[in-house]
Amino acid sequence: MDNSDMRSILKCVRCGTCRSICPVFDVVGWESSSSRGRMLVAHGVSQGMDVDQGVFDSLNTCTTCGLCEQMCPSGASPVKVIENVRHQLVLQGKMTEAQRSLRSEAIEKGNPLGEIKDRMAWLGDSGRDLAKKADYVFFAGCLGSYRYPELTKRTFEILKSFGVTVLEEEVCCGSPLLRTGSDPSELISNNLQQIKNTGAHTIITGCAGCYTALKNDYPGNLDVVHVTEFLADRLAELGLKKLDLKVTYHDPCHLGRCNGVFDAPRQIIMSVCDLEEMRNNRERSKCCGAGGGVLKGYPELSLDISKKRLEEIPKDVDYLVTACPLCRTNLKRGDPGIEVLDIIDLLEMAMK
Ligand code: SF4
Ligand code: SF4
Repeated sequence: MDNSDMRSILKCVRCGTCRSICPVFDVVGWESSSSRGRMLVAHGVSQGMDVDQGVFDSLNTCTTCGLCEQMCPSGASPVKVIENVRHQLVLQGKMTEAQRSLRSEAIEKGNPLGEIKDRMAWLGDSGRDLAKKADYVFFAGCLGSYRYPELTKRTFEILKSFGVTVLEEEVCCGSPLLRTGSDPSELISNNLQQIKNTGAHTIITGCAGCYTALKNDYPGNLDVVHVTEFLADRLAELGLKKLDLKVTYHDPCHLGRCNGVFDAPRQIIMSVCDLEEMRNNRERSKCCGAGGGVLKGYPELSLDISKKRLEEIPKDVDYLVTACPLCRTNLKRGDPGIEVLDIIDLLEMAMK
């Protein structure tokens, strides 16, 4: 634990604001599952407290959604404290089976899903005539490549028409490791070398986890844009028609609150149909429950958080739209009663 983590812990005046808004505390109800409780646990660990299952459950159930950080009147940074103490424990070999599995699969197979298939198979015939050099490169991500290959191919088809290329042998961006305390440097160097080979000045991704990892955790201040930012600037060139639909939009925490990308997805949605906001939106958006390793390590908790978020869907909308494959996956698990679309699915409906 470094000085800035200790300062965060000391800044906490125990006002309880974080407790009142934490989506995990909302489900679990234990002090140790709120950010002020987690910071006390983190402090205890730094002072040599035994690390038992209760400590892991406190530290590892944080989705790293950042809402507590956004709302903390004292300016504490609980997410950084939690991620750093996870890392310290991993360095000591203290981690859960879920953390160990994410790490070994990502390092050994290049993705935390344990997939051994060709990662770039999603490209299909879109892989023909790929430019080796380009100004923009698309980073597909693990979920995009393996769980949503058709969407990823269709997304790339649109991007390719603007001269975008892909990496030859992309590997996991490292986000699942960064968020759960493991060292992703091998994955980062591999991707960085490939990005350099393309000569691209900007990386485009459709995943909130990849976005924040590439932008904030990779060295070199990379220029990273979400696919919605890239396309929002080019809407006039897409030949869109207006759809007779009303949708609502879930802000992925690592895209919206953590990186300020709120307007581009809304610009796209409102250019093709009507938008009705969820009760908590933009900076105050509630987490889908999947991030920070919670879906992997605590699937039932993750599902309960998803269901709570889904209670905020306005009554008369046709679709729930989001802009991250991990959010989409967990929101679907919560069984919202309406289809959960990636924003590119919606855009494509208006392009036909
Ligand atoms: S909101 Fe900030 S000051 Fe208040 S209890 Fe939470 S961490 Fe402490
Ligand atoms: S980052 Fe989100 S899940 Fe984690 S303690 Fe803060 S509000 Fe709770």
